[in-house]
Amino acid sequence: MDTTTLVLLLGINMICSGGLFYLIQRRMPAGSGLGMWSAAAVVFGGAYLVRLAEGLHAPTLLSPVCDLMMVAAAAMFLVGLRQFLGRPSRAWRSVAAGTAAYTAALAVALWSWGLQGRYALLNFTLGAVWLAFGATALRSLLRGDDPVVRAPMRVAAPLIGTLGVLTLLRGATIVQDGIGSMYGTTSGTVYYLYATLAVVLQSLNLLWMVFLRLQARLADLASRDALTRLLNRNGLDDRLEQHFARRPVQPVTLLQVDVDHFKRINDEHGHGIGDRVLEAVAGTLADHVRAGDFVARVGGEEFVIGCVGGEAAAHALAERLRADIGALRIALPQPGAQPVQCTVSVGLSREFASLDRWEAAWREADRALYAAKQLGRNCVV
Ligand code: GH3
Ligand code: MG
Ligand code: MG
Repeated sequence: MDTTTLVLLLGINMICSGGLFYLIQRRMPAGSGLGMWSAAAVVFGGAYLVRLAEGLHAPTLLSPVCDLMMVAAAAMFLVGLRQFLGRPSRAWRSVAAGTAAYTAALAVALWSWGLQGRYALLNFTLGAVWLAFGATALRSLLRGDDPVVRAPMRVAAPLIGTLGVLTLLRGATIVQDGIGSMYGTTSGTVYYLYATLAVVLQSLNLLWMVFLRLQARLADLASRDALTRLLNRNGLDDRLEQHFARRPVQPVTLLQVDVDHFKRINDEHGHGIGDRVLEAVAGTLADHVRAGDFVARVGGEEFVIGCVGGEAAAHALAERLRADIGALRIALPQPGAQPVQCTVSVGLSREFASLDRWEAAWREADRALYAAKQLGRNCVV
């Protein structure tokens, strides 16, 4: 395949990917990175087409514009990745500053070394940006930033890191052998073959990253309560299923926790303060359970805890929770106002060791909770 065809394919490929990213990002939450990648891919692909129009084998001194487009686009890919990873780098300002610095360097390179200087500078710069892209992906892997996107980061780091190394080598070849070495040589063809492959794979990889992030967000929305971030009914059902699918099965004891006279708190202080109380109670519940246990908000001011272990451990946990929630003080906005306090009643089930016993155990815990309310509240039954 000749270099012109490869460059044409590369350019069209990037523009199409950019268009696709654009269509997808219109439906995405902000900060997905896709907007930046979309612009980057279109600009980069456009630059390759400008390069073709310029004539690959008869480069002129008059089209450094396409170099600037390439450098700006590469910087945009990097900035988009940083945005995606939640490390914003004053996006457009970074791109503009990088491109301005490049313009100055380009003027010096052209003045001193002509076309050879122009292409060497371009390849060294792009190589450095691709290496930075690979390094950013690698750093996010090493830091364990976002476990959800580990797999695509594992692809991006070597894929784009290698592109960086090949681009730097291409710069070195240009310095050594002149611009005649760029096209129609084995090293030139290998470079464009790899670049075309990397563009296709990385486009899919970026979409994979966005998809995984979105999927995790949807799973979270479907399984967690918006106010307290505890599991909701859905999430609780899933966790129980997971727990009892594991071998050996460990028994679970249920705690049904209900805030006492919560309606009064709402009536006296308003719903907003009621919500703060619920958050504080939920926080205390979440802080007290162990790693394998699970906590869910199953009603307005009702919570269920699956305590992995026997009834004695569950009872001790219930008493600790009751004492610590009783010690909570929720501040009121009015200066000098007494903070709000609350208590909880807790009903315990017997321990059970299979999923089909769970509904019955919940009824037991609920009956025990009712008994606790009858006994005057702020107690464990
Ligand atoms: P008991 O001690 O018998 O449990 O009395 P209670 O007042 O806690 O129980 P009741 O079921 O009568 O009242 C629960 C209240 O919880 C009624 C409802 O308005 C309130 N509630 C339910 N969901 C929310 C919520 O998300 N936020 C707030 N602030 N209140 C809620
Ligand atoms: Mg209540
Ligand atoms: Mg209730």
